[in-house]
Amino acid sequence: MSTPTLGVWKFTSCDGCQLTLLDCEDELLALAGQVRIAQFLEASSAVVGGPYDVSLVEGSISTPDEAERIQRIRAESRVLVAIGACATAGGIQALRNFADVDEFRSVVYAAPQYIDTLATSTAISEHVDVDFELRGCPIDRHQLLEVLTAYLAGRKPDLPDTSVCTE
Ligand code: SF4
Repeated sequence: MSTPTLGVWKFTSCDGCQLTLLDCEDELLALAGQVRIAQFLEASSAVVGGPYDVSLVEGSISTPDEAERIQRIRAESRVLVAIGACATAGGIQALRNFADVDEFRSVVYAAPQYIDTLATSTAISEHVDVDFELRGCPIDRHQLLEVLTAYLAGRKPDLPDTSVCTE
């Protein structure tokens, strides 16, 4: 059997959930022989093409480019896990959903005409099928490791109700 591949993807977010994964350095080293990290720009510039056995997705969908990119990642991923409040609920940036995004854009940016954004910030599950949602801001490192090791081993994660399986 070939070594499973892991992709870690960033959308609109603060990187805090990816930092939780980086904080699992010892556990990741233990996993190193069992998984090939194919994509994790926060940790390495190396990029390996898909398909991916497991994709961890941080962040919400808030730009037209992101809306397209998540479709490609879903198509290349056997299991897709949304990690953190941004990916599972839209994050703090979803406050725009209740306001005028054009007004925000004109107030925040000196040249708003160059900012390509959607009127809303939405959860990954509003765009593609998600196999598992791991909630938190940031996520809990022990829960993240359980999700990761479970899916890489081909089983369902064993977690309490704070994480919701969407299957
Ligand atoms: Fe950052 Fe919280 Fe979003 Fe994670 S869920 S990326 S910690 S804002």
